[in-house]
Amino acid sequence: AKEQGKNNYSVYHSGMNIKSYRTYLLQNDLRKAIEHNQLTLMYQPKIHLSTGKVLSAEALIRWNHPKWGTISPAEFIPLAEESDLIIEIDRWVLINVCKQINKWKESHNIPLRIAINFSAQHFIQRNLIKEIEQILKDYNVDPHLIEIEITETSLLGNEEAVKQTLLQLKEMNIKITLDDYGTGYSSLHYLSNFLFDIVKIDRSFIQDVANKEKNSRAIVESIITLARNLDLNVVAEGVETVEQLNALIDLQCEEVQGYIFSRPQLPDNLLNYILECEEKN
Ligand code: C2E
Ligand code: CA
Ligand code: CA
Ligand code: CA
Repeated sequence: AKEQGKNNYSVYHSGMNIKSYRTYLLQNDLRKAIEHNQLTLMYQPKIHLSTGKVLSAEALIRWNHPKWGTISPAEFIPLAEESDLIIEIDRWVLINVCKQINKWKESHNIPLRIAINFSAQHFIQRNLIKEIEQILKDYNVDPHLIEIEITETSLLGNEEAVKQTLLQLKEMNIKITLDDYGTGYSSLHYLSNFLFDIVKIDRSFIQDVANKEKNSRAIVESIITLARNLDLNVVAEGVETVEQLNALIDLQCEEVQGYIFSRPQLPDNLLNYILECEEKN
């Protein structure tokens, strides 16, 4: 009976650790991902509804792991956030976005604004602003062409430090988006602080925006009205269906982003997409 107990224990023990074992391996490998060129950026356009133009695109990171294949940022960004690795990754993203902006400018004279997702952890680093200034200077990129997306929930707890950082970014003329809007708690409070340029309505509201039995439409409508009154630009994320798109057109949403127009794409494909949009206009 004693032996059996031991066995049971070891089965239970190893089972419990399968998940953390993958986490452990990934976290270890992530340290090498940058130097081994395993990270890439995909770009998803935001479409300006009244003109049909692409005024900006969002950079979304992917990890091509040699053994596990493509790993979603939803899995590895939280792992990176447990250590200083996130700061290295955000830095890598900014540098590579700058390089890409320059490529598009040189090859097609298209000055496209690119939105970057920054971790909240990065936002409370004291040297963040200096670091951004240095990178933009090194790559000779106009700060107008950089937009930083930060989620509402990530503001919690660090309010004062984040606020200082946002004010400095604003002074540099970098645009700031409040991402996943509506999922946090102090939404109205943050919007009234004059810290943001753009509000991105969370996909969870867009999913039901065309459903008459749900409250989402009323919520989306009030966010759009609020944004307009506060002189903020508004973007809807995760638009997948014609019904959702039509509802957003009715509500006079300015910009939309989602699979209905384009999935996140390789840089060359995004460029082709933008050129096609220009031709149609
Ligand atoms: P997010 O910033 O809210 O990005 C939107 C996510 O929704 C992206 O997932 C995008 O591919 C996906 N998406 C876009 N359109 C649609 C649609 O129509 N339907 C559906 N179902 N999904 C859509 P992704 O690329 O897997 O990124 C997940 C999250 O990982 C991002 O959420 C962001 O929080 C984080 N992330 C992505 N790239 C970076 C990065 O470079 N740095 C940091 N710190 N975080 C990143
Ligand atoms: Ca985002
Ligand atoms: Ca979002
Ligand atoms: Ca999100």
